Amino acid sequence: MYKRILLKLSGEFLADTNGFGISPEATSELALIIAKARESRSGIEIACVVGAGNLWRGARNGRGMDAATADYMGMIATNMNALALQDALSRAGVDSRVQTAIQMQQVAEPYIRRRAMRHLEKGRVVIFSGGTGNPFFTTDTAATLRALEIGADVVLMAKNKVDGVYDSDPRKNPEAKKFDSLSHTEVVEKRLEVMDMTAITLCMEKKLPIVVFDMYQSGNLEKLFAGERVGTLIQS
Ligand code: UDP
Repeated sequence: MYKRILLKLSGEFLADTNGFGISPEATSELALIIAKARESRSGIEIACVVGAGNLWRGARNGRGMDAATADYMGMIATNMNALALQDALSRAGVDSRVQTAIQMQQVAEPYIRRRAMRHLEKGRVVIFSGGTGNPFFTTDTAATLRALEIGADVVLMAKNKVDGVYDSDPRKNPEAKKFDSLSHTEVVEKRLEVMDMTAITLCMEKKLPIVVFDMYQSGNLEKLFAGERVGTLIQS
């Protein structure tokens, strides 16, 4: 059973039905799922990394711009999602702290590894924002990096209505085959879309397990917290 988990939430979890912006309703729904699962397993330590694809993606939205500037804008955008999630979590009765890799001292703590671990030990959810703090990376890499730093047992890659890793896109190909388990090497060799290459190779190198699962399938997070197999498990 996992003791400390890192939950990667892409920006789309906070978006409206078109996949854009921040929807308070969607954010509340997300927070309630986290709150309910947390309640189900005493002592579970939850850290989250939030993305910003609902607001800004450097490479996609910043075409024609200086690439590093566009990426910094993406990192700043993750802070808006983190604050929205924190707000929704507190309305769901969950105490949390936002720690950002891009300093913003009026609204969030700076990322301090030991302090983050202390919050987790005290039962607070820690939301890591600002990505890695560096352009040319993604929040998948930030999730892997933070998971390794805080000694998380696993990276839980939350998906929206996709219940694991398939050999092709199940939304386009009804014949797509789901994998129950995979090795990191297989993910890299088959170029399966789990996370970007930088992130998956870091997981492979450090033997960090990953679970890809459907966040919105009721009870999935509880099952994972209870040590049950859900989605696709990737390990060495
Ligand atoms: N970003 C970055 N460095 C990081 C993490 C994120 O430059 O370490 C930028 C990058 O422009 C990225 C954007 O922030 O496109 C939003 O993050 P991401 O695309 O990973 O969000 P998600 O797809 O998870 O919502």
